[in-house]
Amino acid sequence: TQTLRLILGDQLNAQHSWFQHQQDDVLYVMMEVRQETDYVLHHAQKIIVIFAAMREFARRLQIAGHRVHYLTIDDPDNLHAIPANIEKLAATYEAKEFQYQAPDEYRLDQQLHEFAQNTSLHCHMFDSEHFFTQRDEAAKIFDGRKKWLMEHFYRQMRVKHRILMSDQEPAGGAWNFDHDNRKAWPGLPWEPEDFRPRHDHSALWATIQNADVKSFGNPNVNAFAWPLHRDEALQQLQAFIRLALPHFGDFQDAMSSKAWRLFHSLLSFALNVKMISPREVVEAVEAAWVRGDVPIAAAEGYIRQILGWREYVRGVYWHFMPDYAQENVFDHQTELPAWFWTGKTKMRCLAHSVGQSLEQAHAHHIQRLMVIGNFSLLAGLHPQRVHEWYLGVYIDAFEWVELPNTLGMSQYADGGVLATKPYVSSAAYIDRMSDYCKGCHYDKKQRTTENACPFNALYWDFFSRNEKQLSNNPRIGMVYPQLRKMSVEARHDLSERANYLRENLDEL
Ligand code: FAD
Ligand code: SF4
Repeated sequence: TQTLRLILGDQLNAQHSWFQHQQDDVLYVMMEVRQETDYVLHHAQKIIVIFAAMREFARRLQIAGHRVHYLTIDDPDNLHAIPANIEKLAATYEAKEFQYQAPDEYRLDQQLHEFAQNTSLHCHMFDSEHFFTQRDEAAKIFDGRKKWLMEHFYRQMRVKHRILMSDQEPAGGAWNFDHDNRKAWPGLPWEPEDFRPRHDHSALWATIQNADVKSFGNPNVNAFAWPLHRDEALQQLQAFIRLALPHFGDFQDAMSSKAWRLFHSLLSFALNVKMISPREVVEAVEAAWVRGDVPIAAAEGYIRQILGWREYVRGVYWHFMPDYAQENVFDHQTELPAWFWTGKTKMRCLAHSVGQSLEQAHAHHIQRLMVIGNFSLLAGLHPQRVHEWYLGVYIDAFEWVELPNTLGMSQYADGGVLATKPYVSSAAYIDRMSDYCKGCHYDKKQRTTENACPFNALYWDFFSRNEKQLSNNPRIGMVYPQLRKMSVEARHDLSERANYLRENLDEL
């Protein structure tokens, strides 16, 4: 062996040029290490699926004739840190060269960079051949601009990659069809059946537990539905396009206690571990529109998430790290209430959204943003604690995409790099977009009574507390004129109630 090539758990890209030729002097190295299981407390399903998908990837590489050294979590030779394992394997196999693909997390990027500086091995970093953009591409697009507006970036991507374009104009005559999207879900059409193949991971789960890896959430080992390899992910993409995409735009922001996935694709895990590429997903969706199978609003709405938001948050991450992770513009300091780990709260919207996250390791965008994130910001939870929870709980959570979404878009802790206003609401929005408020212990209409919905007082109090910082923001609209119209007494009652709620979060 001359060369060791490292494949990280989120680099399961079978299409990578590395694998196009079999080479006898190359040894692929994959490892399940405590360094990666323990940097934050993870949902059980996340640990299981990453290990299971890594094992399947290694198996397929070997079938294709590649040489692989795979370190399992219980391998006695495993040193549980990437650099130490690489040095040891390099000595065993007498390797001279170490190659790796650009990591997407700052933490790993730093670690491998430092390793490369200090080792006697000759090191080389390759592109991961996954994204539409380079790490610094968004920063170049926004150079000299005050605001990082996603829409500006997205339009440039549409033109550059010629996606949904007819000549120089956007297909369908508009860049954005949001005004057609975002309806509440009336219960019909029913959400498509979840026909993803199920896997039994009980043996792997036992190994993980024996290795004493800590986790939380339902491991769901017997009926595990996250894809393990590229073929499953591609089948999932095709089924999504056929059954759910036609309604994706309409119900993109809807929430329901009766249907957990609605018309979302559940492809974020497969995308983020690079089983499938954003380009093939975007092209398949565009082709469905060209065939006349889905309306433009659905295709455009979906493509914007991937070609727009996903690439854009990656650019935010690489430009603003490492300081970004420490931002806390409102100086919020409160620890998470205990029900983040159990789902046991009387607030029905949170019981459902947190409960679903613990059960499925997944919640869709509006549950993450306008229920859990919304409450966290209104309650003044510490943004780094919120970030750690999101990073641990979701199957698709990798820091480059999770951090800008959580800390920036949802907690506004960066002071508005990413979000043009704090995404907060009272009960009215949640009631409009879901069926959660019906049957809730709390009264969505009340503000200060004992059974008043906590979102209401917290909402007004949030704006009241942060008047200096937010009152000049034109996007906040009617909030401050309305606040100023309230009597001194009414404002006092709201802040009393909000203080009470913030002091009793565990009891809500
Ligand atoms: P769909 O609704 O079917 O969307 C399709 C795809 O678009 C997703 O698979 C995803 O790749 C992409 N996408 C959609 N919205 C975003 C976005 N805001 N940023 C980046 N990509 C997006 N997404 C993650 O992949 N990992 C995370 O850790 C993550 N954390 C989030 C935290 C918060 C607070 C919020 C508000 C959003 C977060 N998102 C994250 C974005 C989004 O919620 C998930 O991508 C989506 O719910 C995944 O489910 P899906 O595949 O069914 O998505
Ligand atoms: Fe959530 Fe308030 Fe509605 Fe209850 S009333 S579901 S707490 S928004």
